[in-house]
Amino acid sequence: MTIEIEGFTDVYSGKVRDLYIPTDAVSIDDAETLLVVASDRVSAYDHVLEPGIPGKGELLTTLSLWWFDQLSGIPNHLVGDQADVPVEVAGRAMLVKPLDMFPIECVVRGYLSGSGWKEYLESQSVCGVALPSGLENGDRLPEPIYTPAFKAELGDHDENITFERTIELVGADVAERLRALSLEIYSRASAIAEARGVILADTKFEFGADRVSGEITLADEVLTSDSSRYWDAEAYAAGDRLASFDKQIVRNWLSANWNTTDPNAGPPPELPTAIVEQTAARYRELLSRLTA
Ligand code: ATP
Ligand code: MG
Repeated sequence: MTIEIEGFTDVYSGKVRDLYIPTDAVSIDDAETLLVVASDRVSAYDHVLEPGIPGKGELLTTLSLWWFDQLSGIPNHLVGDQADVPVEVAGRAMLVKPLDMFPIECVVRGYLSGSGWKEYLESQSVCGVALPSGLENGDRLPEPIYTPAFKAELGDHDENITFERTIELVGADVAERLRALSLEIYSRASAIAEARGVILADTKFEFGADRVSGEITLADEVLTSDSSRYWDAEAYAAGDRLASFDKQIVRNWLSANWNTTDPNAGPPPELPTAIVEQTAARYRELLSRLTA
């Protein structure tokens, strides 16, 4: 169920966000602006879970806007005055320009974790990037690596791919630009986070082309606790590699209580109140650690 917003029509719902266009536009293709509304829905292992995390949509929107502001010089999709966001969704929506999105999740990893760790165990590489032997789960990598994924349709799983595959998908020029931009943004953002005692372990960007100029533009949400793994630097240094500010709490609970890889496992179980509250508290803490 999406919210009714005066002057806007909903055109698409992703796992977490709902897209709206002005009612005078016929479709997303002729819309001049897009309203991206972040819901409180939470997804893990590509499933939307129940219940949502109260306040999450607003926290993630605030964090995204803060990061766009930090990343001066990187073209982004924000348009107009964000104060014009309709009251029905004030605080948890962004006005953006519709872009021709590239079907690639531009992942950068500074540390080995999640699907990167899994792939490393199998092949000592991630997305075709060879790595030294003997690394442990959660280790810092010698240098950040770009490990793209193919963005699946709603309901499918994103799939890790090699850089060569991204060249086939979008051409060499765009593929190289996406990689360079992703590595640059990761390096700037991780320095900002580190200065605040927070490790940016990995993150995912999405880019699109401006429909008129073709300029490659940073889109979607950026550097939020949904699209990134954030760890507490002090806890990490003390050997605690589980003190994360992202939805790892949700992933851990789900994988301990449900078969996340069995396609016939039925719908995921409901999140317990304690997990919902811990996740909300961690999301709030990240926002204040970074932006205070
Ligand atoms: P998940 O991120 O959990 O994989 P999802 O990608 O299916 O889920 P959401 O992130 O909930 O969906 O929805 C946001 C959608 O809006 C994505 O499909 C994203 O690619 C798209 N999007 C973001 N910014 C723009 C933009 N400027 N122009 C066009 N589409 C955009
Ligand atoms: Mg998304």
